[in-house]
Amino acid sequence: MYGNFKKHLADELAAIESAGLYKKERIITSPQKAEITVKGVGQVLNFCANNYLGLSDNPRVIAAAKSAMDERGYGMSSVRFICGTQDTHKELEAAISDYFKTEDTILYAACFDANGGVFEPLLTDEDAIISDSLNHASIIDGVRLCKAKRYRYANADMEELEKCLQEAQAQRFRIVVTDGVFSMDGNVAPMDKICDLAEKYDALVMVDESHSAGVVGDTGHGVSEKFGTYGRVDIYTGTLGKAFGGAVGGFTSGRKEIIDMLRQRSRPYLFSNSIPPSVARAGLEVFKMLKESNELHDKLMRNVVYFREKMLAAGFDIKPTQSAICAVMLYDAKLSQDFAAKMSEEGIYVTGFYYPVVPKGQARIRVQLSAGHEIEHLDKCIAAFIKVGKELGVIK
Ligand SMILES: *Cc1c(COP(=O)(O)O)cnc(C)c1O
Repeated sequence: MYGNFKKHLADELAAIESAGLYKKERIITSPQKAEITVKGVGQVLNFCANNYLGLSDNPRVIAAAKSAMDERGYGMSSVRFICGTQDTHKELEAAISDYFKTEDTILYAACFDANGGVFEPLLTDEDAIISDSLNHASIIDGVRLCKAKRYRYANADMEELEKCLQEAQAQRFRIVVTDGVFSMDGNVAPMDKICDLAEKYDALVMVDESHSAGVVGDTGHGVSEKFGTYGRVDIYTGTLGKAFGGAVGGFTSGRKEIIDMLRQRSRPYLFSNSIPPSVARAGLEVFKMLKESNELHDKLMRNVVYFREKMLAAGFDIKPTQSAICAVMLYDAKLSQDFAAKMSEEGIYVTGFYYPVVPKGQARIRVQLSAGHEIEHLDKCIAAFIKVGKELGVIK
């Protein structure tokens, strides 16, 4: 039996490879941080991690994880509602509610699960989900698991959203769902306008803060801080795998009854293991640190401004980022791959993206900045961009 299937897979894999879309893994042999060691390459500077606040190797976070291992053990061996909840899990949920100014929070193994498990328990075929066309894959999958009628609007396009909301008046309940920051352009969803429309057309609002929490807003508390939409967003989802330490874990935060219903009915919560004590305690430590001081977020913002200004001055075409994601536009697919390969030779890890990940003719290098970067790291990265940019005729 496997013979035919093996050939089928081998052909498909060969097609992926010849289209230049085959994903290979880099093997890192150091902690995740600005300077990493990569097997077969040596030391490079990392500009493609989601380590926005530089917490992935933070000593205080590591110490918290170690103390939890000593005091609460290694694993939970249970889902939350049977015997997988420790005091630390509840404390972490309370800390997340405090951070987003919400009524309650429920933890998941990942934000992929939070999004996968949020729609189906709340909505039925009588209802409508209205989704931004650039929303994350996990939102798309979550929507697929729910029988509600689906509407889609072009990225951050408020006219299209309004049309969807008008059509969706036919349904019982409506929810508008959006990413906070879109990962390819680094743009922020216009939450104030989304909330205005949702109010006008009687819809709930959900935002996935995975790339925006810890980054967007005066003190990094996400889209509601930036747009003053506290109290107007019904559901936030997010990850502990990006700004908040980078380990693993996700959450849904929001109105009390919504979170209560998810605890009763959300399948990835009911049928998947609890996050380990070390991750829960380290996550809790992250929220304590962010409450004590805004130093890391301030540093991240300084790095973003520094990088952008130097790159614009060098003549690069950069999307107007509102986050820690900087899209350096090259437009040509092959050029984006050649550029990224040459940057790698210069000891800088950045990622080249092209169709179908971004629209045709919109190829780019995506740079992700971090509070873990020092000015000399940024200077090295910018110098490499200028050198490779001149070699490839992108800048003069
Ligand atoms: C990264 C990301 C996720 C997935 O988060 P995990 O916790 O790694 O599963 C979900 N949504 C968005 C918008 C993301 O960027």
